[in-house]
Amino acid sequence: MYVIAELYEEATYVPHHVQKVCAFFDAMGSFAGHLKEAGHQVLHLTLDDTEVDGCVERLLTRLAKEYSVSSIEYQQPDEHRLRYVLSRLLIDGVTITECDSEHFVLAFDDLTQWVPPAKSVRMETFYRRIRVQQNVLMEGEKPVGGQWNFDARNRKRLKEKDLASIPAPLTFLHDVSPILERLKRHGIPTIGVRKTQLTLPRNRSESLQLLSYFCEQLLPRFGDFQDAMTERSDHGWSLYHSRLSFSLNTKMLHPLEVINAAIDAFHTRDDIDIAQVEGFVRQILGWREFVRAVYWANMPEYKALNTLDAKRSLPAYFWSGETRMNCMAQTVRQSLAHGYAHHIQRLMVTGVFGLIAGINPDHMDEWYMGIYLDALEWVELPNTRGMSQFADGGIVSSKPYAASGNYINKMSDYCSSCHYDVKSKQGENACPFNALYWDFMHRHRDQLARNPRIGMIYGTWDRFDSETRTGTLERARQCLDDLSSL
Ligand code: FAD
Ligand code: SF4
Repeated sequence: MYVIAELYEEATYVPHHVQKVCAFFDAMGSFAGHLKEAGHQVLHLTLDDTEVDGCVERLLTRLAKEYSVSSIEYQQPDEHRLRYVLSRLLIDGVTITECDSEHFVLAFDDLTQWVPPAKSVRMETFYRRIRVQQNVLMEGEKPVGGQWNFDARNRKRLKEKDLASIPAPLTFLHDVSPILERLKRHGIPTIGVRKTQLTLPRNRSESLQLLSYFCEQLLPRFGDFQDAMTERSDHGWSLYHSRLSFSLNTKMLHPLEVINAAIDAFHTRDDIDIAQVEGFVRQILGWREFVRAVYWANMPEYKALNTLDAKRSLPAYFWSGETRMNCMAQTVRQSLAHGYAHHIQRLMVTGVFGLIAGINPDHMDEWYMGIYLDALEWVELPNTRGMSQFADGGIVSSKPYAASGNYINKMSDYCSSCHYDVKSKQGENACPFNALYWDFMHRHRDQLARNPRIGMIYGTWDRFDSETRTGTLERARQCLDDLSSL
């Protein structure tokens, strides 16, 4: 008998986006239906059915008794919290075993050979090794195209002429009104825009359609505009991104089947060059497998790391998008509307802001875990606490991803309609990212000056005249004293 259950505890351990809870519950319902059709015995329990239990331990204990169960096998959870709970579960007369989920490229038991605990392994080293091990985009011992990484060709800005040709995202329409009613009935607190029709795939066949759509329509320009951002297109929120993370993280698709589909498209079509396909493969075979290895090598200590001693609270506009900083407003509003932002919006807009403003990484984690439909702790935590907030002191990234408004101005059109002036560091109208960036560098000088990838920035700072330095730090002070009204 398969047990698939909605549980109060799982839906509430952070305030999740309402579309995220609906998408998970909807996909669970669809999977239960699929198993039943295939002739299996399935117990699909909704919040109504598990109200008496609330958490997984109590549910399984009750069911074991009710159904006279002698053995339970569970699929290995991807989260440390849940794995810990299940590994300690004891039920009289019941044998409890864990089975591998088999939904990653690397086997769980091999992970520490790739990333040892508390050590920093660079993603690029990991990525080259896994490409060789899996024989992906290789010609003998050499990478296809003669280079391991085409990152330098993945940084195009969208020009006016590019905007009209951005494809519409492939969306599905699933009525989730009954789920919304259940959430209301059980008092599940949620964030984000409530929609009765969900647009994400709910099952494997729709996920495969999304994958095909990506390979046909989006992959040809995926790499080119991987880092670009725009507010001047209806499809600016999705651009050339695959939106496959939900299907991958819920295990409706296997990462290797996604990678192979993209490589097949590259081999059979003339309009997909190596920079596009390598950029995509790097995200899945590289980053995705890498952050999973970092997570399991370093949990549970990783969740408490705060190397930069960041303590400020998250300003309210992270929950509303009501700020005069246009880049933040666009990214947060889009996240509230769709439960989605692409990598650069997460890393270089909200992430950079949290980093340079010194926001407590616990608050950042809670926000990222709640707001994105693809957020699960194994992938969210190393990306947020590690790559974006540098709270792990460099386990994931060799330098903090700190940046001034100049980066956002280079990669987006957000600054042209912003209240603030991206070219200024001083004065009330100066872009907050500029002063906060220099203040961040200044206040962490002892920790960062010896970092070979960032230390040279201090030469630039020292060459500013003292008036510029004082004015910039003064503007940063104004921003930090009144962070919530920016
Ligand atoms: P695409 O741009 O089409 O990329 C293809 C796939 O590559 C993604 O579906 C994803 O599976 C994988 N991928 C890309 N970058 C990463 C990465 N850095 N780490 C792991 N996998 C990656 N991704 C999540 O799945 N869940 C999260 O909770 C999450 N939190 C993030 C938090 C921060 C601060 C940052 C900077 C990134 C986070 N990411 C997370 C990674 C990335 O932003 C998303 O995977 C991506 O935006 C999902 O959209 P997509 O499917 O359109 O991706
Ligand atoms: Fe963001 Fe600064 Fe540009 Fe405004 S000027 S959009 S705050 S980077």
